Amino acid sequence: MGTAVAEIRIDQRVSRFIGQPRKMLIGGKWMEAASGKTFSTPNPATGDVLARVAEGDREDIDKAVKAARKAFESGPWRRMTASERGRLIWKLADLLEAHLEEFAQIETLDNGKPITVSRAADVPLAVDLFRYMAGWATKIEGNTIPISVPYTPGARYLAYTLREPVGVVGQIIPWNFPLLMAAWKLGPALAAGCTVVLKPAEQTPLSALRLGELILEAGFPEGVVNIVTGFGETAGAALAAHPDVEKVAFTGSTQVGKLILAAAAGNLKKVSLELGGKSPNIVLRDADLDVAIPGAASGIFFNHGQCCCAGSRLFVEHGMFDKVVEGVAKEAKKIKIGPGLDPSTGMGPLVSDEQLARVCGYLESGLAEGAKAVVGGRKLGEKGYFVEPTVLVNTKPNMQVIREEIFGPVVAAIPFKDVDEVVSAANDTIYGLAAAVWTRDISKAHRIAAELRSGTVWINCYNIFDAALPFGGYKQSGWGREMGHDALELYTQVKAVCARL
Ligand code: ADP
Repeated sequence: MGTAVAEIRIDQRVSRFIGQPRKMLIGGKWMEAASGKTFSTPNPATGDVLARVAEGDREDIDKAVKAARKAFESGPWRRMTASERGRLIWKLADLLEAHLEEFAQIETLDNGKPITVSRAADVPLAVDLFRYMAGWATKIEGNTIPISVPYTPGARYLAYTLREPVGVVGQIIPWNFPLLMAAWKLGPALAAGCTVVLKPAEQTPLSALRLGELILEAGFPEGVVNIVTGFGETAGAALAAHPDVEKVAFTGSTQVGKLILAAAAGNLKKVSLELGGKSPNIVLRDADLDVAIPGAASGIFFNHGQCCCAGSRLFVEHGMFDKVVEGVAKEAKKIKIGPGLDPSTGMGPLVSDEQLARVCGYLESGLAEGAKAVVGGRKLGEKGYFVEPTVLVNTKPNMQVIREEIFGPVVAAIPFKDVDEVVSAANDTIYGLAAAVWTRDISKAHRIAAELRSGTVWINCYNIFDAALPFGGYKQSGWGREMGHDALELYTQVKAVCARL
């Protein structure tokens, strides 16, 4: 593991930000929790307390929903033109970009991910998402529709549709890409003209709270975005069940997604879910292994495997299996593990002790059931939440490590003999978020892409994200799409207007 000596210097603004207890944003004001309680967010590289944050609960959620309702019904937000809304979102993107290093450091301190990743991916992707959605604010349109009503012969009508904001939206996000997930959620909701109560994950609340400061600085009217920090079982559950929230958008585990759905039933709020995955990554015999091997490694080890789309089942065609496994294991050994603040770190700690225990539990279960770790397989060091990047072989289709989402740097390599076999094995999962195929044969690649039951298929690449490209799940990986213009569907509803002429 790396030593602390090589760590970057913390920006003074970051030290100041994390140096005092952080409040929640409700109705344009920074507030303590109604209970006065706070909770701590740890630094995953050390396990020490990083910052203290207000512990919101039902009462705070209720206040935030009231503020969002007021902003939606009667605030200046409702009277703004689409162009003005778009400009505010664009301004938020500019402010975020101007504070890129600060946000990258907050993200790395709170989540544990390498600073190089926060700088190159998390913050720039969030900036880009806001810019992309800013452009959509003026392009949310209805249609004019010719109608032919049989029971009013001779009558003429003008019929058209309006695409209107859904209203007050609750958004619950996870800890793996804290800022980016906030952007994925806020961007389309704001472009559509909704108002929001956002609940960041309890493990990583800091970047959303700093974003809240920029939201006020950009000039969003009070109550348009409210940010309530707190735990899932309390604040999150209260938001999902709140009778005055018209839509809930959730990203997280499939298990909690089902709880959100049940909680939403009370007032039949609209629900969108971006959930877990057990994504197949398929290497055909004719693949260019110089790109497929590092691609397969980064497909699972990027962000420590804490990606809902992590390529956790690596299918390799007979004849190439040993070579690919050896290559991916070699890549795993090359990864420098250490604190995220060291710029030479390739993999930081997992986000929490709970996550470390979960990943180690899966490793133990896999090994106990007969899987073999070609590389890795264990927790690393005594301090912080580090685990070795791991390649498992000798797995069986019914093992927990094959069926369940591990959400850690653990890949199972599985040999296959032909395309039919691999397509059926790849689809043999309750999930359907992402998949990849590596081959030089483009017809085969597209044929397999068509047969895979997943919301994304990458061909000769992995983890390629863009604000314009929709992302979401088939099967139990979710409902609805994040990003792209499809995301706007989740935050708008259609009104049909029909006038007799
Ligand atoms: P993970 O298991 O990877 O931590 P979760 O699905 O538990 O992911 O968490 C994702 C988000 O869902 C977090 O913001 C968390 O606080 C929230 N959450 C967890 N449990 C609930 C719940 N019962 N109701 C609403 N939100 C929840």
